[in-house]
Amino acid sequence: MPILTIESTCDETAAAVINDDGTVLGECIATQELLHEKFRGVVPEIAARAHVERILPVIDTAIKKAGVKPSDLSAIAVADRPGLAGSLLVGVVAAKALALAWNKPLVAINHLHAHLYACQLAVDVPVYPCIGLVVSGGHTSLYHCTSPLDLEYLGGTIDDAAGEAFDKVAAMLSLGFPGGPAVSALAASGNPKAYDFPRSMIHKPNFDFSFSGLKTAVRYAIVGPGQTDFSKLKLADQTKADVCASFEAAVVDVLVNKSRKAVQKYDVKRLIVGGGVAANRKLRDGLQSAADSVGFDLTIAPMNLCTDNAVMGAIALEKIKRGEFASYDLDVTPGLQRGF
Ligand code: ATP
Ligand code: MG
Ligand code: FE
Repeated sequence: MPILTIESTCDETAAAVINDDGTVLGECIATQELLHEKFRGVVPEIAARAHVERILPVIDTAIKKAGVKPSDLSAIAVADRPGLAGSLLVGVVAAKALALAWNKPLVAINHLHAHLYACQLAVDVPVYPCIGLVVSGGHTSLYHCTSPLDLEYLGGTIDDAAGEAFDKVAAMLSLGFPGGPAVSALAASGNPKAYDFPRSMIHKPNFDFSFSGLKTAVRYAIVGPGQTDFSKLKLADQTKADVCASFEAAVVDVLVNKSRKAVQKYDVKRLIVGGGVAANRKLRDGLQSAADSVGFDLTIAPMNLCTDNAVMGAIALEKIKRGEFASYDLDVTPGLQRGF
């Protein structure tokens, strides 16, 4: 019997109906990019309100596309952590209400574990045990994963996430939101050696990251001290491209380096990579080169499952196999601390 999965952790409202063999029967995503674009980042209050308007139509569409009835569903799964509190709450409240009304068991999903599980959906072989790298808008974390649900946090960013840095650099260069795709598109015509941006913590013998210094270095490369109005910047197109390429190269260097070290230290055969930044072409190529030279297998989430979606909520099937259900008083866990 299929399950219904619900995702509302940040600025995508999504639902999917997934068969117990993993087949996706129906799916729907409503993105809020246009609502947040003029603010150059996700505004939590706007995101929560938009989720409220969209959650039921999105769920309804996914169920209709799947051609199932609520009575056909065996469980309702929802991402309850981590994310924006108001956004999470909309998904969790909807899931609880439907679970109660339809008399279905409830399953709670860790959104970051789900980002990694998107890799399992890409291949037929089991990807676990492995090292998992989550590179998204809010997180940059490495895990030692012995199964989809058993993840040991090895380290992560101590300040900004990689995706956030892409978004901030895009904002400084007036490239729109979300920034990752725009920065990497412009980087393609730039020189990655034009600016020698910092590779923070690359040689530290741990698995932590820091991207705020890099963001500041980009800022001082393009504006003078004290200048705050980026919209008045007049940069040549080639300069912008060079900044983007050099910034992207710095991010990729650190991510590839630390991921490779984690694979070697924990002596695993595979690296899996999920989250929005995993869609980045230079990162995918850099990780593949490391995998080829060191000799480990690499599985990156399929492009359509890198940014937020409800299909990766198929991880709920693993929880159901273990009999791990949530209670009807499930609350959200936004998570202000590191280490999810
Ligand atoms: P989290 O999963 O940490 O809660 P999130 O769900 O907001 O955060 P995702 O949807 O996984 O994050 O990813 C969005 C991020 O991915 C944005 O910061 C966006 O700029 C970045 N991104 C998307 N495509 C690319 C790309 N091609 N290159 C670099 N970054 C990208
Ligand atoms: Mg998003
Ligand atoms: Fe995400």
